[in-house]
Amino acid sequence: MNDKAYLGLMENLRGRGMQPMDLSIGFGWIPMVDGLMESLDELAPGRWKPTQIKEKFRGLRFYYDLDTEGLSDEEGNGLHDRVRSLVSEVEKRSYLVCESCGADGKGRATRHGHYVTLCDEHAPEGSKLLRSDD
Ligand SMILES: [Zn+2]
Repeated sequence: MNDKAYLGLMENLRGRGMQPMDLSIGFGWIPMVDGLMESLDELAPGRWKPTQIKEKFRGLRFYYDLDTEGLSDEEGNGLHDRVRSLVSEVEKRSYLVCESCGADGKGRATRHGHYVTLCDEHAPEGSKLLRSDD
């Protein structure tokens, strides 16, 4: 199921003009990204496009362009705010979701000093749980 989900997302992104190499997340986060894109399509149909989707510092980063042409300043700003808040909500949620499988995840530091969000099963050997204030 994983490969299919990944290819589906890749295809979707390519159709929106994003380069495949600008997608670098684990399988576990694909449903979140799919859901986010659906919500964005409802909120700003035809006005947004993804530019890069990746993991950074153990969290999802979702970059996009938003086109507010033809809207008043007020409408444009309002749309920016609503899109931004949708995206940050999902980015925030990613810190609790295993990037590998989508189960409940926790912040961990690997032996090599990388920060990752993974479930117990996918925790790399020798990694340490982060305290909540790390
Ligand atoms: Zn997992």
